[in-house]
Amino acid sequence: MRALAVVPGTAGSAAIADLPEPDPREGAVLVETLSVGVCGTDEEIVAGEYGSPPAGDDHLVLGHESLGRVLEAPPGAGVRPGDLVVGIVRRPDPVPCYACAAGEWDACRNGRYREHGIKELHGFLRERYRAEPDALVRVAPELGRLGVLLEPTTIVAKAWQQIDAAGRRSSWHPRRVLVVGAGPIGLLAALLAVQRSLEVHVVDRVAGGLKPELVARLGAAYHEGPLAEACEEPDVVLECTGLPDLVFEAIEVTGNGGVTCLTGIGPPSQRVELDGGRLGRSLVLENRLVLGSVNANRTHYEAGAAALAAADLAWLERLVTRRVPLGSFGDALARRDEDVKVVIDLAPLPEASR
Ligand code: BGC
Repeated sequence: MRALAVVPGTAGSAAIADLPEPDPREGAVLVETLSVGVCGTDEEIVAGEYGSPPAGDDHLVLGHESLGRVLEAPPGAGVRPGDLVVGIVRRPDPVPCYACAAGEWDACRNGRYREHGIKELHGFLRERYRAEPDALVRVAPELGRLGVLLEPTTIVAKAWQQIDAAGRRSSWHPRRVLVVGAGPIGLLAALLAVQRSLEVHVVDRVAGGLKPELVARLGAAYHEGPLAEACEEPDVVLECTGLPDLVFEAIEVTGNGGVTCLTGIGPPSQRVELDGGRLGRSLVLENRLVLGSVNANRTHYEAGAAALAAADLAWLERLVTRRVPLGSFGDALARRDEDVKVVIDLAPLPEASR
């Protein structure tokens, strides 16, 4: 079967590989991959800057944002042939640490977790894969091919759960949120904020095109330019770019008692100039909190699936700006200015799931 694989650490090694059918030891459920989304993490892996292969292999099958269809499942698996499913990206470490033991692999304490398509586990960018039933999440059939948006939605579902938990350290009645970056994560973060009836502002560097339109369609306000001019005293700032300058600007503009949540994964090293005195004082004197949030556990997949099921499908459809067949993966990996989410399609959606 065909797959898209890289040799981690080697830039430009992405190529179609011919792999054997998935090993039954990978899990009792056989899944046909329909679509896989591409994100900044994949770009980093393709550039040879991130990612590691499974033990004993030199290659890594790419793909962590998936949508598949169950082909075979044993009785009692909780999924049935024909179900649309998404594979959970991160798997617990083998020790397991106390977080992984509690099903919170997203908060793994020892760093020995594994991630499909990223760290030590092959990804979903192959025609078929196997998984244990507890590593799969069912998505509403009404979502159809849009189920591929679940994994990025889990990232923001977790971010919101963390913001809520952190905010509740004292009285917490958030009203206004500023989202930094109108890429897929920023737009999905804004969607979840609107679903929470918050006043939502989104800031990005582009002046026109699809992004401002998608933000307006949500009933949120779009701003181009400096964060400080976007809105006053946001209770929550959700930073979704990972760009070091913006990270610190996001922290600076967060309102008194507010929460800055960082979700973007930026460059491994980049210096920024900042007024540490002012920053330190204001964090203390205004009880402000900064938190980082990565990955997602099953509860976040469930929250994400519910958020997508409640969203306007026409709006979600517009987030997917390009669909590319596996054979043209190079096009999918070459980012274009107007891209929001690019998806690689491996198989058509069967009639029954449309
Ligand atoms: C993925 C996460 C993963 C993170 C770090 C992100 O792109 O969506 O699931 O934990 O990269 O590897």
